[in-house]
Amino acid sequence: MEYRRCGASGLQLSRLALGLWHNFGEEADPLRCKSMLRYAFDEGITHFDLANNYGPSPGSAEINFGRILKEEFASHRDEMIITTKAGHEMWPGPYGDGASRKSLMSSLDQSLKRMQLEYVDIFYSHRYDSETPVEETMEALSDIVRQGKALYVGISKYPPEQAQKAFELLKANHTPCLIYQDRYNMLARKPEEQHLDLVAKYGVGFIAFSPLAQGQLTDKYLHGIPENSRAAKNGFLTEEQVIRNINTIKGLQAMAIQRGQTLAEMALAWLLKDNRVNSVIIGVSSKEQVADNLKALENTSFSEEELQNINELLP
Ligand code: NDP
Repeated sequence: MEYRRCGASGLQLSRLALGLWHNFGEEADPLRCKSMLRYAFDEGITHFDLANNYGPSPGSAEINFGRILKEEFASHRDEMIITTKAGHEMWPGPYGDGASRKSLMSSLDQSLKRMQLEYVDIFYSHRYDSETPVEETMEALSDIVRQGKALYVGISKYPPEQAQKAFELLKANHTPCLIYQDRYNMLARKPEEQHLDLVAKYGVGFIAFSPLAQGQLTDKYLHGIPENSRAAKNGFLTEEQVIRNINTIKGLQAMAIQRGQTLAEMALAWLLKDNRVNSVIIGVSSKEQVADNLKALENTSFSEEELQNINELLP
């Protein structure tokens, strides 16, 4: 595994992180969850990405992760980077959603209880909340670091102007923003417009979520929608989205074969080729997917011709 220092910080992060948004909730087979986490850790993935609402049901991924941590990784806590987030709707009433001081502080306390942890390594404001002053959110994040409940803080899905303001406020509070998290993959290239330059300017690391466009950038959907796939199971990825992208996916698959990679490997390598991208957070439903995705690290360079051919295929 390759590790990179995150932005201007001293913290090294594995280039692949494992996310627990799907496949680790209360419906998931506990033995399967355990084996995916063990395999990932044994292969050098030290970074595990959670949020208060991951499940289903919301909170259950943190509960399962906490249980597995205790059973399997108790003596390895200092070798792991564990993150959580708050910002999307989590409990009823005015405090279970958004980025107010009340919501963030209460949510983190709940997350620590669910995971049976004293602190997380990174705590994120999960989304920009236009109804809460950024000053309030950043002050709360800084206080969370001072309380020792998180070692570092990050933000996710902030528009560029608000992200810039957040970076400046956190720096002024002496708790610099460690990391910025957003959707980035071959089918969703918005961070290239402003965020990637912005994070580089402020010494903040960038981490990409949904790097495989929820499984579309793999060989999974080339011949239809398999049972038990994300597109068959829930509303986060729809059949219509897959059908809309299928010609692009087929073109990319042919290019991946020419490079001697699977499409998943090429899609991850394509993100990691950019020095501004610290790490990517993969989601998986099997150990085999972790293994395939790890192989991306074996070749992350692209010729100018390959990049141009890929660009011509992308939306
Ligand atoms: P991906 O784009 O990596 O999609 C993961 C899905 O792709 C898997 O569940 C699996 O689908 C399929 N897959 C993965 N590897 C392979 C492979 N080698 N071959 C075939 N299929 C494969 O990431 P996610 O969308 O899951 O997001 C990753 C993480 O990012 C989340 O767990 C979460 O931690 C974070 N995230 C953060 C958000 C934020 O708001 N900050 C929002 C969304 C995600 P299947 O299950 O069908 O087998």
